[in-house]
Order: sequence, then structure tokens, then C-alpha cells
Amino acid sequence: MRKTIIAGNWKMHKTIAEAVTLAEAIKSQNPNPTVEIVICPPFTALAEVAKAVQGSPVAVAAQNMHWEVQGAFTGEVSPAMVKDAGCKYVVLGHSERRQYFGETDETVNKKVKAAIAHELIPIVCVGETLEQREAGQTEDVVATQTKGGLAGLSAQEVADLVIAYEPVWAIGTGRTASDDDAQQVNAYIRSVVAEVFGKEAAEAVRIQYGGSVKPSNAENLLAKGDIDGALVGGASLKIEDFQGIIDGA
Ligand code: PEP
Repeated sequence: MRKTIIAGNWKMHKTIAEAVTLAEAIKSQNPNPTVEIVICPPFTALAEVAKAVQGSPVAVAAQNMHWEVQGAFTGEVSPAMVKDAGCKYVVLGHSERRQYFGETDETVNKKVKAAIAHELIPIVCVGETLEQREAGQTEDVVATQTKGGLAGLSAQEVADLVIAYEPVWAIGTGRTASDDDAQQVNAYIRSVVAEVFGKEAAEAVRIQYGGSVKPSNAENLLAKGDIDGALVGGASLKIEDFQGIIDGA
């Protein structure tokens, strides 16, 4: 059985004080034992948020990291630092990172390996642009990103991580993939994992959907067999919306 995982990606929002307030509000909701909750504050708030949720079922993730342990990489944050701040997860290869900061499948792969080496669980994002979808390239794109991002991992390492299918055209646009479209792509990603890493890894790996998930569409999306959770941007910034999504799971 794959445990549902709902992650809130706060992107470049919230001061330390605001982040702690939201984290405490999330922590104080009634825990749903069938759902794992992850929050992804900006780097500046990671340590304080991790302290605020310590001992609760809420886990913390970084939104990115570098693959090197330390060194002359001005402005970057290492896996060891992310771990030290109290993170359990790290989001890697988000489409905003790919689009604005030049991330490629190769750099995502280095980060995935570095995360695993530091006992961080990667949430690896894949997804096509609108142009690619309209050109019928969705499967090719997600297969290439999945294979590239996970290259060189063992079946067990893949089984233990999380993949987030996030069609770029649905992120922050209010346009959600239909439940059936999202299910179809998630199932396809699982078949790609099966082909490369075997059936057991494919059955175990959790595959989220992300892209304008909100309380009104969460229940139907999360009811689909291959959608094991949600990566939520905008709707994770307000406790009522985020809780509404968790309640829909
Ligand atoms: C995201 O940032 O991963 C995301 C899915 O954003 P939104 O929910 O706002 O579309």
C-alpha cells in the first residue's frame, strides 16, 4: 500500500515568522493517519519550521539544493545543510527550476543521487509544457525526464522516493489536468519505472500530481489509482485551502 503524500510548496513566499505561524497551524490540525504531510518553506525558514513541527507527523522539505557537499558555490545550499536544517525531503527538478534556472535532467540526477546519499527523500518533478502536450509529446517528455532524473539508481532507491507529475501548463494557472488525464500520465510514468527498475519499484514508488490542486478538485484526483498524493503550490499557502486538500485525500 502506498501512503498518500500531500506536500505544500510555499515557493518564494513567507518570512520566518509567517512560515512558523502556518507550520504551527498545519501541525495543530487533526492528523489523518492515512496521509503524510510535507511542507516546503523557503530556505531561510527551514530550520525554524523544522523546530516548530518537531515531534509531529508533519515533515519538512527544501525546494531545491546543490549536489556538492560544500565548496565555492556562492548562493547555493548543500544536501548536508538541508539535512542539518531538519529536512526529511527535498523537491528536485521543479519546472520553475528547469525553466528559470537552467536545470536539466543531468543536474536533477546529480541532485537526486546526492539527496539519497544524505538520507533525504527526493520528490522528483517531471512534466510537459503546453506546447509539448499539444504536439503529442507528453509521454516522451515525462519518460525522458523520469529516466534521466533517476538514472543509475537501484530499484530500492527508486521505490523509496517520490515522483511528482506536474504538467507545466497547470502550475499556477488555475488550469488543472482532468482526473483522467492526470491518472493516465501517472500510470504511464509508473510503467516507465517498471520498464527500467522493475515491477516492485513501480508498485512502491509514490507518484503525486501537481498543478492547481485545490480543495474542490483534490478528492477526485486523489481517488485515482495511480495518483498517490499532491504537490500543491498556491493552495498550500492558506491553512483552510491546504487542510481542505488533506481532507479530500
Ligand atoms: C507547484 O508549485 O508545484 C504547483 C503545483 O503550483 P500550483 O499548485 O500553484 O499550481
